[in-house]
Amino acid sequence: KRDLLIPVSFAPFTSTPSASTTTAERSSRSGARSADGILNTRFGDFPHDTLTNIPYGSQVRATGPGHKRKRSGVPTDSGFLHILAPTAELWTTSLPHRTQVVYTPDSAFVLHKLCVRPGSVILEAGAGSGSFTHAAVRAVYGGYPDGREDGGNISKGRKGRVWSFEYHEERVEKLRDEIGRHGLDGLVDVVHRDVCKDGFLVGDGNGVSPGATAIFLDLPAPWLALPHLTRRMHATPPLPTRTGLTPTPSPGPVTEPTTPAPETTNPAIPSALSMTETVRICTFSPCIEQVTRTVSVLRKLGWVEVEMYEIQHRHLEVRRAQRKSYTDGAGPRNVDEALKRLQWMNDYRVRRQEQDLHGEGVNAEEAASREMDMEGITEGRLVTRGEQEIKTHTSYLVFAVLPREWTEEDERAAAETVRSTTR
Ligand code: SAM
Repeated sequence: KRDLLIPVSFAPFTSTPSASTTTAERSSRSGARSADGILNTRFGDFPHDTLTNIPYGSQVRATGPGHKRKRSGVPTDSGFLHILAPTAELWTTSLPHRTQVVYTPDSAFVLHKLCVRPGSVILEAGAGSGSFTHAAVRAVYGGYPDGREDGGNISKGRKGRVWSFEYHEERVEKLRDEIGRHGLDGLVDVVHRDVCKDGFLVGDGNGVSPGATAIFLDLPAPWLALPHLTRRMHATPPLPTRTGLTPTPSPGPVTEPTTPAPETTNPAIPSALSMTETVRICTFSPCIEQVTRTVSVLRKLGWVEVEMYEIQHRHLEVRRAQRKSYTDGAGPRNVDEALKRLQWMNDYRVRRQEQDLHGEGVNAEEAASREMDMEGITEGRLVTRGEQEIKTHTSYLVFAVLPREWTEEDERAAAETVRSTTR
């Protein structure tokens, strides 16, 4: 029987799925045909009304036989499918593509490296098709609003937030609609904005800091957005322009670090970043030239621990090499040989158990392997074969860290803590 694992209904997260149940009785209503339509698969037909309003985990059987096979004309056995609770991973595999999207291996690694956890505030640009948005919202929320996968963070009220920026109006509308249908309103704000031009401040009049602790930029030119992601609003050296970067100034003599001079900051403009926590950033770029421009600007703006990663997928086939035969070095050639071997293994297990009971475990092990060798009944070695070429290249991931600001007041408070604990 085939098991089609497809996310049939990405019903609102706020629907009330109950624990998985046995096969839905309503699933095999003979000849059920819904006015809404039918999902036709090669394993049979699934009228829509057999798929909706049943608990997640339900198994639904096809109402008719599968499609006829091309060669023999014999219908494929009819199959079944499971109604799966929606997850970010399933949404990534099934969402309507408006752009290239970030896939689960990348988004999982990015969220991990950005130290995103319940309570984090993420800025994301551009939102594109919303694939990363869905992964991010679960990470900052610590589960789903309906309570699935709640590690206790939701009940503790540690809700984070995702600010998702996109300058393509139609994509903004579509993503807002999906966010609403998935019950994620209030957790994700989709903002229609060119972030390279207008930055990341939010609220009425775009003057409020979102207080970001993590940033993910999936943009064609992330270095143009970086000047808006600093705590020093008028930072020196001069920021890059759209026509190109200014040359890197020579490092000059090493001097004591000083807090920025008053004339280089503009306290009237808040920073989009958290002022009290370390902020982490990731940019996602397909080519190395984009990476070098991004890294150069990150360094100039004071970001540290700049690193680049590339995630590569390689399929590894792991199997057991053919075992030595107890006759002539080949594997079992017929059912009798295979049965004989199974019988031997069974007897061996029973003998082992009996010997262990009498405290002879170690010797029994040695004796057994000698016995197996004598009979030539040994498991084949585990062998691994990798793909010759790596076929996937998604993007280069650049990470960097901006430590929290440390003021004179923080220094005084720290000194006071030291004094009080050493008194
Ligand atoms: N990360 C998204 C996902 O997982 O679905 C895909 C992002 S897509 C590759 C890049 C998006 O960035 C596009 O939708 C594009 O419209 C948007 N974009 C490009 N430049 C932008 C800018 N300056 N401000 C806001 N959005 C921008």
